[in-house]
Amino acid sequence: MNRVAVVGGGLAGLATAHALLRVRPDLDVVVLEATDAPGGKVRTSVQDGYTFDWGPNGFLTNVPETVALAHELGLQARLRPAADAASHRFVYRDGGLRPLPTSPGTFLRSELLSLPGKLRVLSEPLLARAIRREETVFDFVAHHFGHEAARVFAGVFVAGITAGDPRELSLDALFPRLRLLEGSHGSLLRGMAAARRGERARPRGAAEPIGDGRLTSFDGGVQVLIDALVVDLGHRLRTAAPAVALRDAVGRAGGAVVELADGETLEVDAVVLATPAFAAADLLAPTAPEAAAALAAVRYADVAVVALGYDRIDVARPLDGFGFLVPRGEGVRSLGVLWSSSTFPDQAPPGKVALRAIAGGTLDPGFVALSDEEALAAVRRDLERTMGIVAEPESVRIVRWPRGIPQFTLGHRERIASAREALARRWPRLALAGNYLDGVGLNDVVRSARAAAERLAGVPRV
Ligand SMILES: Cc1cc2nc3c(=O)[nH]c(=O)nc-3n(C[C@H](O)[C@H](O)[C@H](O)COP(=O)(O)OP(=O)(O)OC[C@H]3O[C@@H](n4cnc5c(N)ncnc54)[C@H](O)[C@@H]3O)c2cc1C
Repeated sequence: MNRVAVVGGGLAGLATAHALLRVRPDLDVVVLEATDAPGGKVRTSVQDGYTFDWGPNGFLTNVPETVALAHELGLQARLRPAADAASHRFVYRDGGLRPLPTSPGTFLRSELLSLPGKLRVLSEPLLARAIRREETVFDFVAHHFGHEAARVFAGVFVAGITAGDPRELSLDALFPRLRLLEGSHGSLLRGMAAARRGERARPRGAAEPIGDGRLTSFDGGVQVLIDALVVDLGHRLRTAAPAVALRDAVGRAGGAVVELADGETLEVDAVVLATPAFAAADLLAPTAPEAAAALAAVRYADVAVVALGYDRIDVARPLDGFGFLVPRGEGVRSLGVLWSSSTFPDQAPPGKVALRAIAGGTLDPGFVALSDEEALAAVRRDLERTMGIVAEPESVRIVRWPRGIPQFTLGHRERIASAREALARRWPRLALAGNYLDGVGLNDVVRSARAAAERLAGVPRV
């Protein structure tokens, strides 16, 4: 029987083990998770009646990966689509929360851009030219829609996904679909209009959407997915089991020895590294220095989540949306505030509201170093300024994620391709999975897990 070690028990590792066992139930799979709790960034806790997600709060159903995994695990009845109200999003600008436009009419009435800024956006079909080289997100938005739009929107788009700097992140690595849309229509506005008319703007070969693209979670928060994977894997998951070294197995052609922190060694036929890039780099440095160097170059943003519970009466503003994002330079430290209980009403008890501020990121690396008191005070100042909340929250949870979100900076795709090439030569039975490869969202992570499982399951039995 083949033995496979999956290093890392976040969503990537758990989903890879699950996918491997679906195609090869005969495999002897062990998942090694360094910490006491599986799930990595995907974690939820219930506190004072509030459901607080520590990291992600959901996934989109416009691609099938996560929802399909939920179905495989029998979680259909526990899926919870976001409330209709969550389709409204806001941006804090010039002292107020302004709705993010959703149609040409609302765009024209919006206070987010000046009149010249709006005219520049609308002239995009006349001015846009496809650029044939990798660009930052900021440059891409600026060249299509002008500098004012880039200043307001480029930052909030990437802050909501990666907590990163739009002047460093690669459009091509982070939003490849926008490049495809540009390539097929020249102009993004023309491309979006075509997509709305039902024309197939989806990249060839991409999966059919299976939902309406709505943000979706579970009845008990996102950790429900992890809990089901943990039950599914049973004794195959080992927690508090950090892998510290990877060597060639003597006498097991192509196999590996994984060494744990307590000195235990596991001899296996194949390995999946489902850790963050920097941890994979440490494990690979002695045997595959070229791949390790490419992975070590993937930068990460430190982020913090400050989750708060309030009495409804203390929040005067109607919470009629998903929440808001804040461009830099508006005097607000938080990157954005999610109105969690408007999106998922069962996340707060009746008469209460749950909010989550996200702070830190590559432009504010000092935030995660603040004490709990300082972090809470900073977020409360932001809530007073943006939403007029002065009351003390009745429940607070502060979660810090140092090196929490990978940054797809310029050159990212080449770095990952060179790591994969070097590994294919040195460790043909080793696969990578995780959020730093091809996308940071839960759907991307599940896709990377399936790809890793397929790659290994396709390897001939030994
Ligand atoms: C604040 C925040 C909000 C987010 N919001 C969303 C969202 O709303 N929607 C969305 O789709 N995505 C969101 N994301 C992104 C998403 O949560 C992550 O990309 C995803 O959970 C990463 O999964 P992973 O398994 O690749 O990595 P991780 O979750 O980092 O898991 C890696 C695991 O490997 C373990 N490990 C590391 N080294 C070793 C070792 N040597 N041996 C054994 N184990 C090891 C770690 O302990 C960890 O458990 C968010 C992320 C954050 C931080």
